[in-house]
Amino acid sequence: MRGYSFSTVFGRALRGHRRWPAAWRSAEPARAYDVVVVGAGGHGLATAYYLAKHHGITNVAVLEKGWLGGGNTGRNTQVTRSNYFWPQSAAFFERSLELYEGLSRELNFNVMLSQRGILTLAHSHHEMEALRRWTNAIRINGIDSDVLTPAEIGKLVPLLNLDARFPVHGGFIQRRGGISRHDAVAWGYARAASALGVHIVEQCEVTGFDIDQGKVTGVTTNRGSIAADRVCICVAGHTGVLAAKAGFRVPITSMALQAMVSEPLKPCLDTVVLSPVIHVYVSQSDRGELVIGGGADGYGSYAQRGGVPLLEENLAALIELFPAFSRLRLMRQWAGIVDITPDTTPIMGPTPVRDLYVSGGWGTGGYKAIPAGGETMAHTIVHDAPHPLIADFGLDRFETGALIDEGAASGVSH
Ligand SMILES: Cc1cc2nc3c(=O)[nH]c(=O)nc-3n(C[C@H](O)[C@H](O)[C@H](O)COP(=O)(O)OP(=O)(O)OC[C@H]3O[C@@H](n4cnc5c(N)ncnc54)[C@H](O)[C@@H]3O)c2cc1C
Repeated sequence: MRGYSFSTVFGRALRGHRRWPAAWRSAEPARAYDVVVVGAGGHGLATAYYLAKHHGITNVAVLEKGWLGGGNTGRNTQVTRSNYFWPQSAAFFERSLELYEGLSRELNFNVMLSQRGILTLAHSHHEMEALRRWTNAIRINGIDSDVLTPAEIGKLVPLLNLDARFPVHGGFIQRRGGISRHDAVAWGYARAASALGVHIVEQCEVTGFDIDQGKVTGVTTNRGSIAADRVCICVAGHTGVLAAKAGFRVPITSMALQAMVSEPLKPCLDTVVLSPVIHVYVSQSDRGELVIGGGADGYGSYAQRGGVPLLEENLAALIELFPAFSRLRLMRQWAGIVDITPDTTPIMGPTPVRDLYVSGGWGTGGYKAIPAGGETMAHTIVHDAPHPLIADFGLDRFETGALIDEGAASGVSH
């Protein structure tokens, strides 16, 4: 892999940035692989990368029906944090944040991680009590988290309307939380995986699975059949569709989740602000745009655009908290199809079909999980047993009832 060193970038700049080599190789599908990963989002690409990097398995293909990073990985609002409530989630997401902290160096690709802090607001005494409990649980899990008073919040976010219809009673902050550049995460993993020999095949839709006596032996695609010893499904909102093709069901509801950006403005917001009750969150991108998100549309859908009522709701909530933003024009709006489980915890690990694995159910918050998701799925595929960090995230928890309810942590979708 060609390094993006200072001298390379400087040399290319002198030559007008012409003839940069392609960052990753666009491969033609081979007839057989050791592992086929379905979906070139962050999770699929990271899984392929760690299979090659940590386990030396390079005869791997990532098959993508559209273009790389064109699913939720390229559509999210980039929030990266680890302040989850339950110990299993906290350990997993903390590992992911740690990996994010070293990711630019690991991939030799600037993922623009900005640990500007993520502030969660409370708008009543009761919510403040719940939030204190939440903060304590997070700290017991060994993760940084501080309760802030309204005065401290006012200092941190001067534009925030503390006397909104539901006044701000306080909040808590994870200072190591923040945002990173989602395209760069997809491109960085793609480039590094490709350099290790992984085949990335775009415009290749998996239409079914070859299954022999309960074991997966390959996939069928719009570009022919491909044999594989092991297959991993990483298709976010389409997990239910692919599971049905393999003959099993997953408790996942697929819904559109919207996001939007305003026109750019000078720096005015240097932390991520989130209100679970007024139901909006906002950050300012490096280009100056406000990146705004809220809840998922209230009905199942595969339409990747989102409804107008929710768009209006998100914006009304934003203006309630930041009246000054009412003067801004909205520049773009889009949506992705998110895969929501009943306990909002992902489904990771083996499936009822032997050698077929799933990494899904990421719902509204799987971007922050990409590095640890890839690392643990690669381990799970190689050892045919769940990595200890995801041992409780298996599909079997819906039979045993051992759910991990992270509804509060993922309450406002980010
Ligand atoms: C608007 C929005 C905001 C969000 N904000 C945040 C946030 O701030 N922080 C956070 O942590 N998370 C956030 N998320 C969630 C996060 O984006 C996802 O959980 C995460 O990107 C999932 O990654 P993935 O690789 O599993 O899926 P994707 O990136 O969706 O990749 C799956 C890929 O599979 C492909 N595919 C599907 N079917 C097939 C098939 N049959 N054959 C081949 N390929 C197929 C798709 O084309 C797609 O490219 C947000 C999501 C949305 C939509």
